[in-house]
Amino acid sequence: MSERDGAALVLFSGGQDSATCLAWALNHYERVETLGFDYGQRHRVELDVRLDFLRALPIAFPEWGRRLGEDHRLDAGVLGQLGATAMTDDIAIEITEAGLPNTFVPGRNLLFFTLAGALAYRRGLRNIIGGMCETDYSGYPDCRDDTLKAQQVALSLGLDRSMVIHTPLMWTDKAGTFALAEELGGASLLDLILEHTHTCYLGDRSTRHEWGYGCGTCPACELRAEGWRRYQAAK
Ligand code: ZN
Repeated sequence: MSERDGAALVLFSGGQDSATCLAWALNHYERVETLGFDYGQRHRVELDVRLDFLRALPIAFPEWGRRLGEDHRLDAGVLGQLGATAMTDDIAIEITEAGLPNTFVPGRNLLFFTLAGALAYRRGLRNIIGGMCETDYSGYPDCRDDTLKAQQVALSLGLDRSMVIHTPLMWTDKAGTFALAEELGGASLLDLILEHTHTCYLGDRSTRHEWGYGCGTCPACELRAEGWRRYQAAK
């Protein structure tokens, strides 16, 4: 494995999925850098929580801590200017006439991977890792395997460098994501994920459930709670 093959960039938002992907990457690569996006999300808690997780991880896992490199944050605020989504505007979550929840930010992952590709190019990295998943992602078209495969080709051609997009969670569900975290880092990693990741669309960190913090009723909380319940039942 060449030096470049031994390093990766993880899209790390501070949620359960990207935290699990970060652990996966630290298990696979000698050096791992992280990237978060500030896109004017309504609930800034995600951006704080991701730093808490990055601080806590090396304490619980010193070996991973030695591999953990720089954390980058890029401004993708242009997404907020596009508006009309429950992720950036103060509107209720509902299903739109396109059959997608209005938490869908059109083109978000396309933009994120373009920016990640540019950063990876600058940092001499060719592996980009994201927590996208077709299984229970509300049908977001930019989380689909085909979309990301096409974007991998576009990035490799457009940057004239072989770029690889890895999506370790593509075919798993939330219960499987909890199980993968346990496989990678045992109960300590599960504890970190429950305590220091955030998924709730409403940004609620006032209530701690057995599956982590959140309002308990938004679609993201329901998915996480149901995943935890099925993961526990399958143990
Ligand atoms: Zn919630």
